[in-house]
Amino acid sequence: MNEFMEKQVKLSWHAPKKGYDVVIIGGGGHGLSTAYHLAKRHGISNVAVLERSYIGGGNSGRNTTIIRADYGIPEAVKFYQRSVELYQRLEEETGRWIMHKTKGMLKLAHSEASLKTERARALMNQAFGSDTVFVTPDEVKEICPQIDLTCGGTLPVLGGSYHRTGATARHDRVNWTLAEGALQEGAHIHQNTEVTGLIMKDNKVLGVKTNQGDIEAGVVISNAGGHVSTVCGMAGLRIPIRTHPLQAYVTNHFAQTFDPIVASSDLLFYVSQTARGEMLMGAEIDRQPSYNRRSGFDLLQSCSYRAGLLLPFLKSLRINRQWAGSCDMSPDYSPIMGKTPVENFLINTGWGTWGFKAIPVSGEQMAKLVATGKTPDLIAPFSLDRFARDRTMADRGSAGTH
Ligand SMILES: Cc1cc2nc3c(=O)[nH]c(=O)nc-3n(C[C@H](O)[C@H](O)[C@H](O)COP(=O)(O)OP(=O)(O)OC[C@H]3O[C@@H](n4cnc5c(N)ncnc54)[C@H](O)[C@@H]3O)c2cc1C
Repeated sequence: MNEFMEKQVKLSWHAPKKGYDVVIIGGGGHGLSTAYHLAKRHGISNVAVLERSYIGGGNSGRNTTIIRADYGIPEAVKFYQRSVELYQRLEEETGRWIMHKTKGMLKLAHSEASLKTERARALMNQAFGSDTVFVTPDEVKEICPQIDLTCGGTLPVLGGSYHRTGATARHDRVNWTLAEGALQEGAHIHQNTEVTGLIMKDNKVLGVKTNQGDIEAGVVISNAGGHVSTVCGMAGLRIPIRTHPLQAYVTNHFAQTFDPIVASSDLLFYVSQTARGEMLMGAEIDRQPSYNRRSGFDLLQSCSYRAGLLLPFLKSLRINRQWAGSCDMSPDYSPIMGKTPVENFLINTGWGTWGFKAIPVSGEQMAKLVATGKTPDLIAPFSLDRFARDRTMADRGSAGTH
């Protein structure tokens, strides 16, 4: 965080206590949101967020900030729609400017199969409360005049879906706002505090071991992003997650306004414009599972080629920065939230390439679970035991990177 923002956002640090009612491992958006909602909505403020580095240093500060609810299965549409609505009122609730902007999101189809998918998506979204319509090529051009509908003569745009409530918000401001809100309500956040083990008796978690000493806990929640397998391993729990790098990059300033977020599942890339005018782009995950956060030329070359077919103006821009994050990918491309077979140990993971949009709702729902002891209906379909029950939530086509 730069000095200017540090003066604006009131973050205060404390010495760790001997124990807390709730210990959250990971100070990304999901961990901070859970702490915020526990304190704000349920009055549970004897809470600590333990972050091994700095808050928002993981994927929550590395993403492309897209917020949307145009998913392909009813459970996901309802879940993400709640998050879209929570994001819409987060500025009013917290009094902080998170640079939230509703832009609309176009998902383009360049094949008959994709066209069918986008038509079904629009109908499914309308049925479950999300604002998505099917659009023809002419309507695509009207929404985004910079698009070359012939796609350089390679894969013409046949139509698509338009998700009118698709939005973006500044990622680090979301993290700082939730951190500030949690701290104001009495929660503690400890940076540079790495959880190295769990204190366990039989099948019950009693606390955490950290590089700053042991801390007792009534409940421990893992919000460790791409490192969730390591944290779950401390509880003797194997979970169906693989960690893959995901890269993104920005260009220099584009002088025209580029209104919508544009994605193409056939060309496998997506793009939006930042508040500074840069074009922000991303594509699919790296194939090889890895904790490596290095970015590479291959992605730049292939993604820029595909993006340039659809949006020829991109070819005249320069690439300014590129980076990567570590994504916790689940086999069905859906999150895993809730209880585990280990007592007092909850998980909130499987956020892969799509978790920024879910930060408000997952925090809200996980806080409700802790406060009531009951799994809320909205997240019940995403529980860990769905894999054993053969009730996976397959929604690969909505991930945006496949
Ligand atoms: C390039 C890129 C683009 C993306 N674009 C989008 C997008 O447009 N829209 C969208 O919805 N999603 C997007 N995502 C995904 C989204 O960023 C993540 O799903 C989301 O930020 C996950 O938040 P989190 O809090 O679970 O994890 P993180 O933000 O990664 O936080 C986990 C934290 O846990 C800490 N930690 C790990 N182990 C320990 C330990 N042992 N002790 C203490 N702390 C620990 C880490 O240091 C880290 O800070 C993107 C991701 C990437 C990488």
